[in-house]
Amino acid sequence: MTTFWIAVVPGDGIGPEVISAAIEILEAACGLTGGFALKFQDAPAGAGTYLEQGEALPASTFETCRQSDAILLGACGLPDVRYPDGTEIIPQVTLRIKLDLFAGIRPAATIPGITPTLHGGPPIDLVIVRESTEGIFASLGGGVVLRDEVATDIQVITRRGTERVVRSAFHLARRRARPEPRVTCVDKANILRSFAFFRKVFDEVAQEFPDVVADHLYVDAAAFELVRRPSRFDVLVTENLLGDILSDLTAGLVGGMGVAPSGDIGPDHAVFQPCHGTAPDLIGKGIANPIASILSAAMMLEYLADCVGEEAPRMAAQRIVKAVHQAIKSGEAITHDLGGSASTRQATQAVLSQLNRVES
Ligand code: ATP
Repeated sequence: MTTFWIAVVPGDGIGPEVISAAIEILEAACGLTGGFALKFQDAPAGAGTYLEQGEALPASTFETCRQSDAILLGACGLPDVRYPDGTEIIPQVTLRIKLDLFAGIRPAATIPGITPTLHGGPPIDLVIVRESTEGIFASLGGGVVLRDEVATDIQVITRRGTERVVRSAFHLARRRARPEPRVTCVDKANILRSFAFFRKVFDEVAQEFPDVVADHLYVDAAAFELVRRPSRFDVLVTENLLGDILSDLTAGLVGGMGVAPSGDIGPDHAVFQPCHGTAPDLIGKGIANPIASILSAAMMLEYLADCVGEEAPRMAAQRIVKAVHQAIKSGEAITHDLGGSASTRQATQAVLSQLNRVES
């Protein structure tokens, strides 16, 4: 039986609350499905760790993450805790860079029982693949402010970085196997050379996947279409900042940050975390929505299944997703952000009860 080692970075704010809910669900799903085991190892990082230890991502934490099979992360950073230069504590971004987690997978799918932000239209089921190691974010810590008059940050798009993220988007479209698999390249190729290059490389890689439809949209048109006709999309692939912005938009379409999961996947490592941040306004109130973390944990199981070529973790993942859908449909997991009154505990308990009922 395969045992997977999971590094757990609870982080700050509501991070620990939602991550403990996700672990409870993972343990239950693993026990019910069988065929694999999970071992969790604490990996402290974030603003609290910075205050205690003087480092946001201590070497021991990084080592635990590096040696794990996957990393489960809550959320890191607090508005009042900053480095002396005023910048925020963001070990999750450091992990992305140091572990080469180039593909940010941000699914957005309609969950029956959640009133959609925009009423009407067919269900949404799309994934944004956000390049996560380059783009304008590559300028992190390297921008220049000249004489308090001019500021610059440089966008970096490489052939290698683009080829690998585009390839992963096409592979994902194949695995999702929609009736007409499609990957949409989102850029601003009409204005910037770096984006025109991104599109050119996209078109080259698309030739390797004749079974998948390849199309393009400028980012402004993509934003419009995502609001107007989101059901038309399957997989979208884009630059780092554009993906950052559009994935918040798509999270908004299907219920908000409380239900939006994500995975940042590289050649040898992967981090799974809710799309939301630390939500300082909710700390200690017990009302944070745990669904985004629980769905991120299910994505982690899918990833582990792919890594080892075993079906048991995938079955557990499917069981979790079904249980989440049933718990929401029943009304018992509708938290405050979704217009309900369930607490974090009640929502978690509702998913736990459904886990026992649904089949994987
Ligand atoms: P960051 O700046 O890192 O994105 P943040 O907490 O300021 O972090 P979001 O995570 O986008 O920003 O959250 C914005 C608001 O949405 C929060 O202040 C909170 O009110 C709400 N929110 C976010 N996550 C949740 C959640 N899991 N459950 C309920 N409400 C949430």
